[in-house]
Amino acid sequence: MKKTLSVVVSCYNEELALNQFYEETATILKKLSWDYELIFVNDGSQDQTLSVLTRLSELDEKVKMISFSRNFGHEAAMIAGLDYSQGDGIVCMDADLQHPPEYLPEIVKKLEEGCDVINMVRTRNESAGWFKNFASAAFYRLINVLSDVKFEPNASDFFAVSGKAAKVLKDNYREKVRFLRGYVQNIGFSRTTIEYEARTRVAGESKYSIKKLIAFSVNTIMCFSNLPLKLGIYAGCGAGVLGIIMMIYTIWSWARVGTPSGYATIIVLLCFMFAVLFLIVGIIGNYIAILFAELKDRPIYIVEETKNIH
Ligand code: UDP
Ligand code: MG
Repeated sequence: MKKTLSVVVSCYNEELALNQFYEETATILKKLSWDYELIFVNDGSQDQTLSVLTRLSELDEKVKMISFSRNFGHEAAMIAGLDYSQGDGIVCMDADLQHPPEYLPEIVKKLEEGCDVINMVRTRNESAGWFKNFASAAFYRLINVLSDVKFEPNASDFFAVSGKAAKVLKDNYREKVRFLRGYVQNIGFSRTTIEYEARTRVAGESKYSIKKLIAFSVNTIMCFSNLPLKLGIYAGCGAGVLGIIMMIYTIWSWARVGTPSGYATIIVLLCFMFAVLFLIVGIIGNYIAILFAELKDRPIYIVEETKNIH
């Protein structure tokens, strides 16, 4: 029996890109030796994405659609796609053709060779701009220092997993605050990477604002590292040493010139100590927020409507 490739595409306000994405991708998928299903996840778009997807799913029964009740974010959309996929291999890609479908045959070849996890690594990102590229490099460097698990820099949300690896992701990685790319890299199995050159976005604009990226980076670091929690211990030790030095200095200057006037020193120390203290309280607060989100156990996504899903 023919194997099936599931292609999961998350779409948020992608009305302008979808038709071209479908044309290009379907043409390539038809030529594969595998059967395929194209799973589009409409992540609560406010534009005509839903109607474009509904039309595509009526024209082509291989097009499946899952539509969320509101925007749940890119990762939630990928998770939903994984949940609904039935293929022997699953590829996640963006709807804006930044992840070129030309690489699908190569991915299928790797899957046939028995690879379970295929990470697509960007060699060049034309459209991201220097700031995003710089921030991304800095983020990976930082997380690789802080976390025990190691991440591939420039790994993207373009990846493929075998049915076996997908099952692990579906069953065991249901965290509410998460980093799917990180899990994909750390579930083990036989892995390989394929380098690709990111294209420029075909239409529409990037949905990731700098603010979203910062929030995402902070959460990811906290999900994969407990080191920030230990900052309090280091800060405490540092403050202790500083305190001893100040004490010795005070006694020394008191013996030499009498009572020292320490107004400036007190103010500086006070501000500095409180800054450290509040920073640490903030860090702990953020971990508590993550814990709280897990505890509440709210759904990762809510499906309002599906098409061609049986
Ligand atoms: N996306 C989504 N939900 C969101 C934001 C983005 O499903 O809340 C999708 C979007 O439609 C696209 C992919 O995630 O297919 C990547 O987003 P985008 O191209 O805006 O990010 P960039 O490539 O600029 O990092
Ligand atoms: Mg994009």
